[in-house]
Amino acid sequence: MLCYLIGYPIGHSMSAVMHNAAFMELGLDFAYHLLEVRPEDLEKAVSETLRASDVRGANVTIPHKVSVMGYLDEIDLEAMRIEAVNTIVNDGGRLKGYNTDGIGALRAIRERYGDLRGARAVILGAGGAARAISYKLAENVSEVRILNRTPSRAEALSDYLSSLRECRAEISSDGLSRDSIRASLEGADILVNTTPLGMHPDTEASPVDQGLLRPGLLVFDAVYNPPTTRLLREAEASGSRVLTGVSMLVYQGVAAFELWTGREAPEAVMMESVLDALGGGGS
Ligand code: NAP
Repeated sequence: MLCYLIGYPIGHSMSAVMHNAAFMELGLDFAYHLLEVRPEDLEKAVSETLRASDVRGANVTIPHKVSVMGYLDEIDLEAMRIEAVNTIVNDGGRLKGYNTDGIGALRAIRERYGDLRGARAVILGAGGAARAISYKLAENVSEVRILNRTPSRAEALSDYLSSLRECRAEISSDGLSRDSIRASLEGADILVNTTPLGMHPDTEASPVDQGLLRPGLLVFDAVYNPPTTRLLREAEASGSRVLTGVSMLVYQGVAAFELWTGREAPEAVMMESVLDALGGGGS
């Protein structure tokens, strides 16, 4: 069976490395391929490629996570709430969309942080990753504060999540200035970066001044290339606990793998293959 990653552009893919290593480990007759699909070709790619009988599913990345929803037969409730699909399952030609990004992030954060009840989280960014992560956090923590370069996007996300019954946290928003970060981090327990600041090749960038980081904070960076970003290096030096984006990447992959194969994913193999491909480091 075939699985694809559809996106545009598609450069190096950790997902291909991770899933092919997992298929091989379990001896499954599956292969994961990259499929570069321009926005104007998305409908055709879904109807002609993804619906084929030898295709089990796909991952979906930028810029198709929202637009692909219009071409599927069914959307899982959580993906509907997040308003984005990153995983598709083909069941006899019928396509169902899921979102495993939020599940992956929540699992990674929970493993490192522990019981999330009563926790206060600050999220930097209001794009696709922020939507999935803030949705799952807002179901589980007591406060979520979303800070974004474009404040109106943070406000729209905050208003939207506040309107969902299952998002029981108190949710607020602001811009991404040093002052707003400083004020938001006072009394916060978890800081999540979902901006691309610090991502390869601009690895010296960081969304937060080191002086604002402190012990007692868990700093999670969704950026996974490099695994240890400048933000995480400085967080560690300031006594904060840290969590790399590799764990979210692997856990969203684990959830997708299990949807496609119905088998328990070989998580250690998946983690190792990603860390190898990224050149080591991080957890
Ligand atoms: P996205 O939808 O394009 O959103 C990017 C967000 O970052 C927006 O809120 C944007 O603010 C903000 N931003 C972009 N450039 C900025 C800058 N120079 N300064 C301040 N803010 C900036 O992207 P995404 O899909 O959410 O992905 C974001 C990051 O998460 C990427 O690094 C990606 O690799 C990572 N990610 C990791 C995983 C994982 O499994 N670990 C999964 C998904 C994504 P505006 O609204 O102002 O434009």
